[in-house]
Amino acid sequence: MSSFYNSKAIFEQAVLFMPGGVNSPVRAFKSVNNPPIIVKKAGGSKIYDVDNNEYIDYVMSYGPMILGHADKRVVNAIKESAGNGFSYGATTEKEIELARLIVKYFPSVEMIRLVNSGTEAVMSALRLARGFTGKDKVIKFEGCYHGHSDSMLVKAGSGSLTTSVPSSAGIPLNLSKDTFVADYNDINSVKSIFLNNKNEIAAVIIEPIAANMGVVVPEYNFLKELIAVTHENNALIIFDEVITGFRVSKGGAQGLYKLAPDLTCLGKIIGGGLPIGAFGGKKNIMSYLSPEGPVYQAGTLSGNPVCVSAGIATIKAVEDDNALDKANSMTEYLVSSLEEQLKKYNDKITINSISSLFTVFFKKPPVTCFKDVIGSDLKTFKKFFGLILKEGIFAPPSQYEALFISSAHSKGDIDKTAAAFKKAFKEIFE
Ligand SMILES: *Cc1c(COP(=O)(O)O)cnc(C)c1O
Repeated sequence: MSSFYNSKAIFEQAVLFMPGGVNSPVRAFKSVNNPPIIVKKAGGSKIYDVDNNEYIDYVMSYGPMILGHADKRVVNAIKESAGNGFSYGATTEKEIELARLIVKYFPSVEMIRLVNSGTEAVMSALRLARGFTGKDKVIKFEGCYHGHSDSMLVKAGSGSLTTSVPSSAGIPLNLSKDTFVADYNDINSVKSIFLNNKNEIAAVIIEPIAANMGVVVPEYNFLKELIAVTHENNALIIFDEVITGFRVSKGGAQGLYKLAPDLTCLGKIIGGGLPIGAFGGKKNIMSYLSPEGPVYQAGTLSGNPVCVSAGIATIKAVEDDNALDKANSMTEYLVSSLEEQLKKYNDKITINSISSLFTVFFKKPPVTCFKDVIGSDLKTFKKFFGLILKEGIFAPPSQYEALFISSAHSKGDIDKTAAAFKKAFKEIFE
């Protein structure tokens, strides 16, 4: 059906000049052993490759494109801003406007600092937490992704309560020893780490809704207890809302669950598809940052006026347009359209979804932690990915990713998608 002739030819060029042919690993399609599609352009809910295949897009740049691609309001904001120069090395009023918008919807955030990526936001928030508490160690959760900074690229070692090991080459063992890995939705795993490391933990960082091992929804009581346990131990709780901020509610997962972390990391939607990140919290913590305080953090392009303009336009469109409700209702519609299939293949498929995020796991329900996630049948996923791609559905090429729905996805898009999923399930299971 679809030809991938041009994509293949261009990818052969790409691998000559870029490791793996890509600038970020998941784009290489390695886990689905397909050559990746090369993108020509995108608009609304659609993305087009260099062979002129049209896809309904569920990658959506892995999160930023809540309004869909090339939304007119954002395009105009970018054009207008770029015409006035695109980096100054001095403060603009726009930065204050974006900060105000974030503070308005995140009551736990009184002050923010803008950076250039989610990775940078997390890395800086961790430094701030260490500087503020005077402690070195941190706890993260298996399956949560917080960008590619050294201290976050660790996995549980053999004695998981005592040691972690780097999950990438190039990370000093000494550094990975300061990061502990706990189990998502399991408060006891956190308590044991605190117990074994009295007064040594600076912070606990979590995706309050996990979306980087596929979508895994937290139990409310787990999150609530996590905050309490962290505070009992004089550590800071950091919510990494790089995906969930301005998506699961305007105030992120903390808005949805009415919970208040000490520090919040943002990215993706707050830049509307241009590079950005931010971290923020209460004044007494944020004032530890340089130039007010002793924790150093800086950036040549931080608060970039074009990125900030795209972010403001995106958040304002979200405010004016019920964008989140639209995206949420399309997600509900898709999941309900697959109800019959979920019943029929109830020992083979789990769909986890919340707001405008979902993942189809090829595993019997439930999927509530990393151990469940890695029980998924990757061979079946690979088949599924190839089959729906042929039907014009662009999904992330990995079982361990969320699919993203935007306010530009129409009922027609969802009907087509549901039909493609049903056809693929039938071909795989019958
Ligand atoms: C994407 C992501 C990051 C990293 O953001 P980058 O902009 O890719 O550096 C961090 N945390 C979470 C939860 C993310 O989804």
